[in-house]
Amino acid sequence: MADPKTVLILGGGVGGLVAGNRLRRALPAPHRVVLVEREAAHVFAPSLLWLMVGARTLPSISRSLERLKRKGIDVVRGEVEAIDPARKRIVAAGQVLEGDYVIVALGAEFCPGAVPGLAEGGHTFCTPAGAVALRGALTEFEGGRLLILTAAPAYKCPAAPYEAAMLIEADLRRRRLRDRVQIEMFAAEPGPMGVAGPEVSRAVRAMVESVDIAYYPEHQVVTVDPDARRASFSNGVEADYDLLVYAPGHRSPRAVVEAGLAGESGGVSVDPHTLATRFEGVYAIGDVTTIPLKLGKPLPKAGVFAHAQAEVVARSIARAVTGRGQVAEFDGHGECFVETGGGRAGFGSGDFYADPSPRVTLRRPSRFWHAGKVLLEKTWLWRWF
Ligand SMILES: Cc1cc2nc3c(=O)[nH]c(=O)nc-3n(C[C@H](O)[C@H](O)[C@H](O)COP(=O)(O)OP(=O)(O)OC[C@H]3O[C@@H](n4cnc5c(N)ncnc54)[C@H](O)[C@@H]3O)c2cc1C
Repeated sequence: MADPKTVLILGGGVGGLVAGNRLRRALPAPHRVVLVEREAAHVFAPSLLWLMVGARTLPSISRSLERLKRKGIDVVRGEVEAIDPARKRIVAAGQVLEGDYVIVALGAEFCPGAVPGLAEGGHTFCTPAGAVALRGALTEFEGGRLLILTAAPAYKCPAAPYEAAMLIEADLRRRRLRDRVQIEMFAAEPGPMGVAGPEVSRAVRAMVESVDIAYYPEHQVVTVDPDARRASFSNGVEADYDLLVYAPGHRSPRAVVEAGLAGESGGVSVDPHTLATRFEGVYAIGDVTTIPLKLGKPLPKAGVFAHAQAEVVARSIARAVTGRGQVAEFDGHGECFVETGGGRAGFGSGDFYADPSPRVTLRRPSRFWHAGKVLLEKTWLWRWF
């Protein structure tokens, strides 16, 4: 066997988890697969929406990353502090780690602080702690004006805020509180899921409005006054609220920016098919990347893409190390469930690399697609741990 190689995987979210599993299976010992992650547990993010409405508990959607050690993946718990992509060397938890290959899968960092008062005045469903706190706030909420905001035109998972709005609406209906609550959604973007095309966007907007949620697109929140409970928008509109729910914007992780990996577009520039960065042997996958599409907007940040990209990069590295396996390329295909409440979901799928714009279709909400999302959750938490 050739020299033993080390693959460093930075981040144990969707992309890192899939890459770690795949590489461990493809590379025999003594090749090393090292995964560095600051959190002790991986949380299945799509289920945060169910956690928010009390349909899940945090332990039921989390798995300890320690379990990966049983498979032969070296898990290093700690903060990635510095990355030297030219030398494929990183500093994590105070120790220096060197690799022959590096996969940067550090995701995108939420930055609610970009809007003064937002974090203090509202609740987000986008983090485990936020979704738990929001569940508590919704349980205590007995009526009034409920505002749902997207705090930036681009955020993780384009469907999530719209699903959140519909799930909250259904939860209030189930608890017989709906007629005491006015739900309004103020979105920074021109419409739901715009990258998926006007037809999908119109359909999702219609789903939201059909359950009496007032929808105001192109409203960029600029400040929130937590004492007055008032959100102010860049177009001069002000909205008072009793409960504020938001999806925050995001930015590149500090270590990625300081390493010179993040380009002008904010994320790491990669080859759209191989996910190779400009540094040899260094790849970036998932939310940490910015991949411009033909229509001029970036590929949305979604786990489905992080997953597919991880499969491609794992195959490329395995092939480079062992000389076996097929060449793989990421083709821009993706799909997502759109939860609409009441045990139903729609299903969007398509080709995001299509020229001149993504070709995406949305299937009508049904119990079938909701069951599909439940199945995805169960298999995800079983398959990778
Ligand atoms: C509420 C919600 C619902 C969603 N629903 C869906 C859905 O239905 N379908 C879908 O496709 N996508 C969905 N997404 C989006 C999806 O979760 C992300 O796109 C996906 O997790 C991106 O994977 P990733 O590996 O790039 O990053 P992540 O999964 O975010 O992983 C990055 C990891 O890196 C770690 N990390 C970051 N910085 C450091 C550091 N300096 N040191 C050590 N560790 C670090 C983080 O702790 C994290 O574990 C949803 C997101 C949210 C918030």
